[in-house]
Amino acid sequence: MVAEAEIAKARSEGRTVLTEVESKKLLQQAGIDVVETRLATSKEKAISISGDLGFPVVLKIASPDIVHKSDAGGVKLGLENARAVGQAYDDILAAAKQKHPKAEILGVAVQKMARPGVEVIIGMSKDDQFGPVLMFGLGGILVEVLKDVSFRLVPLAKKDAAEMVREIKGYPLLEGYRGQAAVKISYLENLLLKVSDFVEKNPEVKELDLNPIFAYSDGALAVDARVILEKSKK
Ligand code: ADP
Ligand code: MG
Repeated sequence: MVAEAEIAKARSEGRTVLTEVESKKLLQQAGIDVVETRLATSKEKAISISGDLGFPVVLKIASPDIVHKSDAGGVKLGLENARAVGQAYDDILAAAKQKHPKAEILGVAVQKMARPGVEVIIGMSKDDQFGPVLMFGLGGILVEVLKDVSFRLVPLAKKDAAEMVREIKGYPLLEGYRGQAAVKISYLENLLLKVSDFVEKNPEVKELDLNPIFAYSDGALAVDARVILEKSKK
């Protein structure tokens, strides 16, 4: 399986944290929709990749040592042209070096600015007793402050996925709220099943975070992804 290349690379470098670019590649190979993301190792490359992807783009710090990128001043959204990309590149690296002087910086991840959607999250963590557990919730303050999330054990049955989506208090927001379009619920259910499948097939994955996923009336797209591996190979 090609997917193993990402894991093998991290292992060979003694890392358990996969970068955003590696995490997204791995998940994309499992049929999970992620926004196309490429690593730029220089400002010039960031600008040329942006041109290839098409503006507006997003730049993010790429470092296995920086997991909360926004907190580190490491996310610049809605960059409209080469000049803005160049400036963002310098600003991101300066902020990262200031806040995380010891971090290994691989460069900057360049991705297309995704159209806005309803932010949802899917996460996986492992319980000592029960093994992998999937979490679903609405993104932003709803998950951070209100902890409005649902949980199920892996492997998920279709019924579990349907229940997980409907169980959260914020479910009406997915059905459309004050003129906002309803999101495609069946797509989210399928996404949960795909993530469950991915987790089952990759026991080396210890933790998974798709935060956020933008949910749309016709699909969904993960704009941030983080995979953490078990310490030793299983
Ligand atoms: P963090 O490491 O801080 O979680 P994220 O990659 O999640 O960084 O980016 C922070 C926020 O920026 C996201 O919650 C999302 O709202 C927005 N964002 C990130 N990537 C994109 C993108 N490709 N298109 C549009 N918005 C994005
Ligand atoms: Mg995030």
